[in-house]
Amino acid sequence: MQVFVAEKCGFCHGVRNAISMAEKTLEQAAGAVYSLGPIIHNRDEVERLAKAGLRTVENIDQIESGTAIIRSHGAAPGQIAGLRAKGVHIVDATCILVKRVQHIAGELEKEGYQVVIVGEENHPEVQAVMGCAKNVAVIADESDLEKLPGKGKLGIVCQTTQSPERLGNVLGAIGRRSFSELKVINTLCQEAIKRQESAVRLCKAVDVMFVLGGLESANTRRLAELCKKYNNETFYLQNWAELDTRVLLGKKVAGVTAGASTPDWIINEFVGNLKAFDAEGS
Ligand code: SF4
Repeated sequence: MQVFVAEKCGFCHGVRNAISMAEKTLEQAAGAVYSLGPIIHNRDEVERLAKAGLRTVENIDQIESGTAIIRSHGAAPGQIAGLRAKGVHIVDATCILVKRVQHIAGELEKEGYQVVIVGEENHPEVQAVMGCAKNVAVIADESDLEKLPGKGKLGIVCQTTQSPERLGNVLGAIGRRSFSELKVINTLCQEAIKRQESAVRLCKAVDVMFVLGGLESANTRRLAELCKKYNNETFYLQNWAELDTRVLLGKKVAGVTAGASTPDWIINEFVGNLKAFDAEGS
């Protein structure tokens, strides 16, 4: 069996930067080091950093002192202000593209638009953007359009890791309603789009496709959805240990891709084992 790895996959610059800031902070900080929410959506990498001392907490009430790392998904300005008020040292690893969405949401509201974000309401990036304006409507798909006012002007941004296809579908549905003005700022991340495009190209050319990443990772989920659409033999796994090797039987060519929060060591281990398994099987 041949194994191909997608041209673009694994850590994006935003996640790589957050991990390297966390590693440096753990080396240098005198007191406790916290991450407000898992530093990335990857259980294995979170466990690796926990062994190095990183404490993951879910809300700012669990941090009284020390250093708090703001992950690449960002945090609401109110949370950051709350930590500062307690004298907690902040290391801000928010991705610059996520910061841009937060800034735009605030500006759109000041300009008098009803702010709309196309994305998943429970995702931390979206939650942080919701904290940047007083009234943000989150639209995941057409069924959420009832959350919008009947008329008026909408200022629309998008969760960075959504697919252009989903953004297009929601915009089309909004366009069919009678809003007086639509201002759309494209906040999709090109890193995420490139991963989607190369995953789709690869999955069409292989017998079996593996998408590696955390189950909480929205961008990995999106890769898996897209690959499944074009190759029914697509498997979404966190690591090699989750693979049922029976799915390899009768397959000649395998493809591997990984979300923007999947570390290189998980991809390398998976690809190495896949090649070794093939060698044993032949
Ligand atoms: S996927 Fe894009 S927006 Fe998200 S952290 Fe990576 S570079 Fe930033």
